[in-house]
Amino acid sequence: MWGAPDESSVRVAVRIRPQLAKERIEGCHICTSVTPGEPQVFLGKDKAFTFDYVFDIDSQQEQIYIQCIEKLIEGCFEGYNATVFAYGQTGAGKTYTMGTGFDVNIIEEEQGIISRAVKHLFKSIEEKKHTSIKNGLPPPDFKVNAQFLELYNEEVLDLFDTTRDIDAKTKKSNIRIHEDSAGGIYTVGVTTRTVNTESEMMQCLKLGALSRTTASTQMNVQSSRSHAIFTIHLCQTRMCPQIDAEIATDNKVISESSQMNEFETLTAKFHFVDLAGSERLKRTGATGERAKEGISINCGLLALGNVISALGDKSKRATHVPYRDSKLTRLLQDSLGGNSQTIMIACVSPSDRDFMETLNTLKYANRARNIKNKVMVNQDRASQQINALRSEITRLQMELMEYKTGKRIIDEEGVESINDMFHENAMLQTENNNLRVRIKAMQETVDALRTRITQLVSDQANQVLVKAGEGNEEISNMIHNYIKEIEDLRAKLLESEAVNENLRKNLTRATSRSPYFSGSSAFSPTIVSSDKETIEIIDLAKKDLEKLKRKKKKKKK
Ligand code: ADP
Ligand code: MG
Repeated sequence: MWGAPDESSVRVAVRIRPQLAKERIEGCHICTSVTPGEPQVFLGKDKAFTFDYVFDIDSQQEQIYIQCIEKLIEGCFEGYNATVFAYGQTGAGKTYTMGTGFDVNIIEEEQGIISRAVKHLFKSIEEKKHTSIKNGLPPPDFKVNAQFLELYNEEVLDLFDTTRDIDAKTKKSNIRIHEDSAGGIYTVGVTTRTVNTESEMMQCLKLGALSRTTASTQMNVQSSRSHAIFTIHLCQTRMCPQIDAEIATDNKVISESSQMNEFETLTAKFHFVDLAGSERLKRTGATGERAKEGISINCGLLALGNVISALGDKSKRATHVPYRDSKLTRLLQDSLGGNSQTIMIACVSPSDRDFMETLNTLKYANRARNIKNKVMVNQDRASQQINALRSEITRLQMELMEYKTGKRIIDEEGVESINDMFHENAMLQTENNNLRVRIKAMQETVDALRTRITQLVSDQANQVLVKAGEGNEEISNMIHNYIKEIEDLRAKLLESEAVNENLRKNLTRATSRSPYFSGSSAFSPTIVSSDKETIEIIDLAKKDLEKLKRKKKKKKK
């Protein structure tokens, strides 16, 4: 799903929203097209971009959730952070896709990512508890906290803070952003809601969305001019996944240790970020206060763009990443190039009048694809210690095995050492291996030499025949084959003689030791004379030669 477990790129999805009624009435043309079966989008005729996912005009909310987000929620249960953010110009469908609007009378089918994720989260919690109980195990414990922040004019606003003075937006809030020793980002002074059910969570979100800063611009009446960051913290205490007692089945210690109830605590945070419009200021026709908003919104997105460039450009890897240039990038620091599985959903309009903005969005999103995040499990100290202890147990088990098998010994003075036999055995084994290699090499040499001898001897015989005027290819072939056979037989003979010699030695040793072997030996050595056999073969060869000569003579006649 995310490639290597320790490194994962920022995934980028592009979603093209359908044309709005207004656009159709005003006669806008569609300037985007998607290559069927490929995550590739064409803008106009010649500008093609490839992403991890591309969702065309007719795509459904559910499809986007299943393909992009579902796995991330599941990852949270294993201790992985996740971030999804929606990018794009105002009116491109960010709020619709994320579901940050929390429209009261929205139909189920049109629910955005957040509602689906919350539903999924609580359903999984129930399922996990249920499965544990069914298996007779202690159920895992879950704590779900939520935060809802808004970034407006470089100011962090707390949407869950009901005591907040909505009119006092310009006043400095006392929310601080900090970094822990491991590089994780956390906030201080933010209202954290602990929620137990899906409906409770949705209620919180609706209230938060109500107090969100929205203002109308020329482009989108309901458009939000701020970044909204909704964060779910999941803390889970569960029984450690069982490790099998695989090392030694007869070893009781391991199976007992895995039966003990060990708990680990995993934490994960999931950011849902609905970014403000990415359009350049002049197109919105904003003036005064609104223009100021525009500038600072773009400041956050500008910083985000710079961070993305710094992370995405491989040649600039080692250089400074400007997270601190804006609150947005500071808050998202560990989601960009940090410990998080991140997906960016770039929302675009299909209409030709948004061509330039759509092009900018696609270019921006393309850069994000190069970012590599370092993903790891958030595990608490106790769980880490348990893991360390487990490997220690395994190590000790191995050592115990070594004592049992006699590899290690302890002498009377309590000094432990490796058994001499073990060393000796190891040495003998190496020697054995070396010898085996040598024998093989020698065998090959012997074979080569025998072939050479055969060749030489048969050449010699041929020369004699040629001198006698009886040279003939057939005859020389035959001679060659005979000589080969002679050589083979000679080798075999030498071998069996050696074996024989050995047997004889053993026998004499045995008879000298044991009285039962004193009688006449059944193995009386019959010495096969090598010369005798050679002569026989040469005789045979001569006869064959005679026959051939006679045949030839007949043919001549
Ligand atoms: P943004 O948050 O990017 O400014 P919105 O999400 O508010 O944009 O979308 C603008 C308008 O387009 C809204 O009226 C919304 O209902 C509509 N819209 C956006 N995306 C879709 C879609 N995929 N299907 C149907 N309507 C959409
Ligand atoms: Mg919006």
